[in-house]
Amino acid sequence: MSVHESIEAFARAVADELGPEAVSLSHEVIDRYGEHTLPAPDTKPGAVVYPDSTRAVQTLVRLANRFRVPLFPISNGQNIGLGTRSPVRAGQVVVDLGRRMNKILEVNEKLGYCVIEPGVSFQALYDELRNRDSKLMMSPTAGPVQGSVLANALDKGGGCGAYADHFGMSCGLEIVLGNGEVIRTGDGALAGDQHPNWHVSKYSFGPFLDGLFSQSNFGIVTRMGVWLMPRPPHIEPFFFTFEEDDSLGEIIDLIRPLKQSNFVPTLIRANNELYLLSSGETNPEYAASAGKRTLSDEGRRALRKKHGIGAWTVSGAFYGASQAALAPNIERLRRHFTASGAGRWIPLDEAEQIGPLHIAISSNTGVPTNNELKMLSWRPGGGIIWLSTGLPMLGDMAAQFQREARRICESNGLEYMLSNVCGPRFARGIHSLIYNREDADEARRADACYRQLAEFYASHGVFVGRAPTLYQGFHHDQRMSELNDACHAIKQALDPNGVIAPGKYGIA
Ligand SMILES: Cc1cc2nc3c(=O)[nH]c(=O)nc-3n(C[C@H](O)[C@H](O)[C@H](O)COP(=O)(O)OP(=O)(O)OC[C@H]3O[C@@H](n4cnc5c(N)ncnc54)[C@H](O)[C@@H]3O)c2cc1C
Repeated sequence: MSVHESIEAFARAVADELGPEAVSLSHEVIDRYGEHTLPAPDTKPGAVVYPDSTRAVQTLVRLANRFRVPLFPISNGQNIGLGTRSPVRAGQVVVDLGRRMNKILEVNEKLGYCVIEPGVSFQALYDELRNRDSKLMMSPTAGPVQGSVLANALDKGGGCGAYADHFGMSCGLEIVLGNGEVIRTGDGALAGDQHPNWHVSKYSFGPFLDGLFSQSNFGIVTRMGVWLMPRPPHIEPFFFTFEEDDSLGEIIDLIRPLKQSNFVPTLIRANNELYLLSSGETNPEYAASAGKRTLSDEGRRALRKKHGIGAWTVSGAFYGASQAALAPNIERLRRHFTASGAGRWIPLDEAEQIGPLHIAISSNTGVPTNNELKMLSWRPGGGIIWLSTGLPMLGDMAAQFQREARRICESNGLEYMLSNVCGPRFARGIHSLIYNREDADEARRADACYRQLAEFYASHGVFVGRAPTLYQGFHHDQRMSELNDACHAIKQALDPNGVIAPGKYGIA
């Protein structure tokens, strides 16, 4: 049977077993699911299927094994800049779990968690908590509000607030393996159907398997427990801004003790001006060089002046009983960040007047927002690639790496946009490469820029976290072969015919 015939036979069998509404071979649907924002042609799936239950997912996996058809699971397919909803390889059948498996199965007010299916979006969870008048709050990302909470956690995404490590805050999974079997992780694995600890006890008896299903292709996750924080009576976002590019080192050294001591309970972000301002502006010099040159230093300074921010802006929030109760914390932070004279406090009422800072205000108060998506309009043509590196929380190192990364971006005619997502010891460095995907030369430069940045970081021992589908094979090959062999052995054991997303994160 040819690949095409296998997919047609698979689609007929799916329609027979799960109903015609569970599968689509329409050209329009296939084109839409193939779209992405990366510098390569669209990656069209062979078909799209829509399961409505764990049992239906099992049926799809069983049929995929029978017809030797590769599947690519998505939840809501909002992975913009990382592959969107397109499969890692053309011809794979997209399993769109989000369309019909989108229930919030439980909200536990006392214990502070919810249990969700793949299609529950940040917006849906936010709305549900509000409608229930819940005392709990969620940790939104700065990304699309329709993104899936479960998929974001599986892909090791990060949000805002104290519960920002989304995979860290997940607890207890249900998974359909590539061999069609269903497993429950953690205390959910106990035989029987009573599992009071499934979504409250992260580490159970035996090895911790949950991690195997993050950024991998060993199974399809159909249910997840997610921990939620009690909403504090008052949340006070804060902002500090620094004028110079070279202030990054000082900023990182100032943030480290605040996080190690947990004086600031939320994640702290240190974003450069173009990362922030791209969601409120279009590149004013794009037309003059037809996108060939990066925005000039004078252009950057003019935009900073217009919005009242410097080269780097620090954001986070305090939790407490009231604004008055938190005033001493803000004062202590103000002294901390302004001691050298390089930093300036932006009072909250001033920050509220600065459009690009609204994203941090919303996210830190638990409200999802689509405002950051506007950064895709910084240049025409809709191209965006995320490069997620990261560094130890050491000022010297951060300063040195930002200089070279800036040079690499500018030598490719692209703006340097960086968000440092700072924890106690490590800062994830999210580089946003925005380019015109409809301009072949610009797309080529964006691709070169991603690879040069990744190679520069790797040459200093710094690896990436989450990666766009287009570069997963490239990063896989940067790793020690013994670790790759271990991943392939696990793949063989759990998915012997390799039906779940072969090639995802480089694992075939
Ligand atoms: C402007 C902008 C800002 C962003 N900001 C952030 C941010 O602050 N933090 C952040 O983390 N992300 C951010 N993102 C990235 C992205 O949009 C989110 O991570 C998104 O929420 C992912 O959810 P999804 O439904 O789109 O996932 P999907 O596209 O459905 O899936 C994401 C990945 O998980 C896998 N997957 C999905 N469901 C399953 C399943 N059930 N079983 C097994 N594997 C599965 C998929 O194969 C894919 O690899 C941003 C994006 C943009 C464009």
